[in-house]
Amino acid sequence: MIEHLPWQQSQWQRIESAMASNNLAHAYLLTGPEGLGKGLFARQLAQLLLCQSPAAGRACGKCHACSLLQTGAHPDLAIITPEEGARGIKVDQIRDLCQQLQQTSQLKGRRVIIIEPAELMNMAAVNSLLKSLEEPGVGVVFLLVSHHRYRLSATLISRCQTLAFAPDLSSETLNWVEQELNDSSQDPKRLLDLAAGLPFMALEYGGEAYQKRVAFFSDFDQLLQGHTNAIKISEKWHADSQYVLDWLIGWLNNFMVWQVESGSALTLPEGELSLCQRLSRTDNTQGLFAVYDSLLRAKQQLLQQQSINTQLLMDDILLQWVELGLN
Ligand SMILES: [Zn+2]
Repeated sequence: MIEHLPWQQSQWQRIESAMASNNLAHAYLLTGPEGLGKGLFARQLAQLLLCQSPAAGRACGKCHACSLLQTGAHPDLAIITPEEGARGIKVDQIRDLCQQLQQTSQLKGRRVIIIEPAELMNMAAVNSLLKSLEEPGVGVVFLLVSHHRYRLSATLISRCQTLAFAPDLSSETLNWVEQELNDSSQDPKRLLDLAAGLPFMALEYGGEAYQKRVAFFSDFDQLLQGHTNAIKISEKWHADSQYVLDWLIGWLNNFMVWQVESGSALTLPEGELSLCQRLSRTDNTQGLFAVYDSLLRAKQQLLQQQSINTQLLMDDILLQWVELGLN
């Protein structure tokens, strides 16, 4: 029996009731931040749709279709991702797919197409896909996975049913993280808090990523206290700017929770907690919101522009923090 992830129960319920009433959509858009296992959900759903003897909303894991899926050899499942070395999904990939869709299914069942991440399709690819979405053919189901829904065209979104995935801090999810870590020296709650409720990111923090984040916030603390300067920190960290931006945004999100709940609900590393205390002493909320805004904008720039100068980007962000005068 295929195990479902504990924080994805409501999405499975929607699929199960759609299947029970014969109301399955021909395209689903799986949205939510990275780290929630949307890609895994898409693969499990593909297996359920292609399985020859599903029971109780689960794929059997034993039939011919299931064993083909386990070896990645099922002829009626296509997974479209950017080709090696390419940043986007090209129109040719979608055109080839559309041509294949005109043929009938090889195993006489459904055909499933996973596109991930959907936001990496270029404009021509999207237009080509829209045609297929209008006339999808019998038994064809599209599963589009997107970490950044705002980057998709409104037309594309309107052609799909959205399954939204959200961060989760429930005890079931905490148990899952604990089991997956399988390391009693780690505090699963701390990792899940640090990952702001994104379970797969919490697992990453179980490895090297945790030490890296701690090291960054130690440097960041030195910067705010005036013991070092923004250029030095930026030189050291700009190659990891994607992570640094996520860490700062995540830390600020945690800071807001920390303030509302007087710090009781969150288990954060010592360094980030003392930074929360430092931050709580400022009354420059306007400046703080401006920095938060800049962080979100910088993250968007980083995703969209290939040739961005990460060191300048990082300089700018860090200088804004220095100007807040939190020393
Ligand atoms: Zn099966």
